[in-house]
Amino acid sequence: MGDDPASRIYVNNKKKACEYCGIRSFEYAMPAETTQEELMALIEKLNNDDSVDGILCQLPIPKHLDEKAVINAIRPDKDVDAFHPANVGKIMIGDYDFLPCTPAGVMELIKESGIDITGKECVVIGRSNIVGKPMAMLLLHAHGTVTICHSRTKDLAETVRRADIVVAAVGVPELITGDMIKEGAVVIDVGMNRLADKKLVGDVEFSGASEKASAITPVPGGVGPMTIAMLMKNTVKAALVHSENK
Ligand code: NAD
Repeated sequence: MGDDPASRIYVNNKKKACEYCGIRSFEYAMPAETTQEELMALIEKLNNDDSVDGILCQLPIPKHLDEKAVINAIRPDKDVDAFHPANVGKIMIGDYDFLPCTPAGVMELIKESGIDITGKECVVIGRSNIVGKPMAMLLLHAHGTVTICHSRTKDLAETVRRADIVVAAVGVPELITGDMIKEGAVVIDVGMNRLADKKLVGDVEFSGASEKASAITPVPGGVGPMTIAMLMKNTVKAALVHSENK
């Protein structure tokens, strides 16, 4: 929707990944002036199209459109972003069909690195519905002891210093500095912040944090590609479920 330059990059990367995996993707690039009715009509059409297994609306959408209504309109079994309240509720009780792509990607990175979450102090910075909250829930399901920090947290540095596993999903360049990282901690940087000079940096000050961390993700090239990989996984899962039900 509209012409957000970051969205354009994300959508192109998702299309490329689909092509790589053998998933057919259809792009509906709609102008910023699109009305709510037009957008809802498109979602309804895709909901009813048996050749479509997964639907995602790249956020953010222009301000005059109702984002919540859009998320609610996507059929839960085609909701490969896992943003629909039915899917969010399932994540809460640990009985899910789809996991939200970014938190799922983070979990996959931790698992593949052989890091056991059980009993660890996990600190998630950020409480968005898309990243922070589901991230905390997945760490909790994996038996972590989870703290969520946000913009009103009183002593961010002290809380982060306790963490064995830090997940930063804030959107503030290099907010988490090396002095906040405990020796040997695992540091996952979800942040993607474009600076004035066009450089892409995370929410973590990589140079300082990498001296303390036992494992750390870079930006770019860390969580971002994992998010797309998980989107592909959700889409394949949706296709399998739909083909079983045919
Ligand atoms: P958001 O703006 O919805 O949420 C940011 C959160 O950070 C809020 O909950 C807020 O309370 C908290 N926050 C803000 N300032 C803070 C501060 N000074 N101290 C502590 N907490 C603070 O953002 P989002 O959608 O969750 O995204 C967060 C970041 O992750 C952004 O940089 C975004 O671009 C990036 N992101 C990356 C991927 C990926 O695939 N790598 C996916 C989604 C989002």
